[in-house]
Amino acid sequence: MLQGKVALVTGSLSGIGFEISMALAKKGCAIVLNGLGDPALIESQLLKLKDLGVNAIFIKADLSVPHEIEVLVSQAMSTMGSIDILVNNAVSRFDAVIENLPPEKWAYAMAVNLSAPYHLSRLILPSMKAKNWGRIINLASIYGVEGVAGRTDYVVTKHGLVGMTKVIALECAEYNITCNALCPGAVETPFIKELVTHRAQEASLSVEAYTKEFLKARQPSKRFVQPSSVAALALFLCSEEARDMTGTPIAMDGGWQARA
Ligand code: NAD
Repeated sequence: MLQGKVALVTGSLSGIGFEISMALAKKGCAIVLNGLGDPALIESQLLKLKDLGVNAIFIKADLSVPHEIEVLVSQAMSTMGSIDILVNNAVSRFDAVIENLPPEKWAYAMAVNLSAPYHLSRLILPSMKAKNWGRIINLASIYGVEGVAGRTDYVVTKHGLVGMTKVIALECAEYNITCNALCPGAVETPFIKELVTHRAQEASLSVEAYTKEFLKARQPSKRFVQPSSVAALALFLCSEEARDMTGTPIAMDGGWQARA
């Protein structure tokens, strides 16, 4: 289904980004991985992709630096021939109420979570338009459509990303290019597992007991969303059957948003 296509997935060495990379690769898509990770991890993730019979490369780029984004795109294009699918997945998070959020953390989150998707889109869209085909998938969040106290950088940048998704969708609707925002609730990634373990320790609760409370307060399903489910949704968005789904924030949150 995706033979001959190339996907650039940012922040893709683990978590949802790697799961999406694997799902696309299983359908024949070549993959450009990117992120901040150690060489052993990069090597092992590339091997898993190549074992599926697709071409896969890693390009190092700090997405908070616009020039590095430009180099990333030009290297990906020259090595792989094109970028047909862009998955903006990388994220920076610094949990703090607004008066405790350091300006440099705010600026970093704006750069990684919002400016990087803007730069990548502006650099890649001309070639997608020329080919009259493209898919942009922005990893937003339930917090792209709903607020929460204590997560200023995350909520603001994810809302911005949902806005950018709509603008790109409108500007590209006649070019067979779709742009959608995925809005998962709590997904069982290494990040969430670490967070829950840390908070359980702080609350002097077992991880199991804290997890129960954590989910009860958020997801009516009372279970985590699986990264493979988010990846399956991303894969569907890359299919021809999804060509008329565009400009949409798509929930996958066990019913969380339905309570709003
Ligand atoms: P993660 O924290 O595991 O991965 C984020 C990646 O971003 C990391 O690999 C990191 O190396 C990369 N990154 C950070 N700063 C970077 C920079 N300057 N340059 C290049 N790479 C950089 O994330 P995850 O939990 O798998 O989430 C993936 C996406 O899904 C994020 O956009 C997140 O906001 C969104 N999301 C996650 C959840 C969840 O429960 N995990 C829920 C809703 C939305």
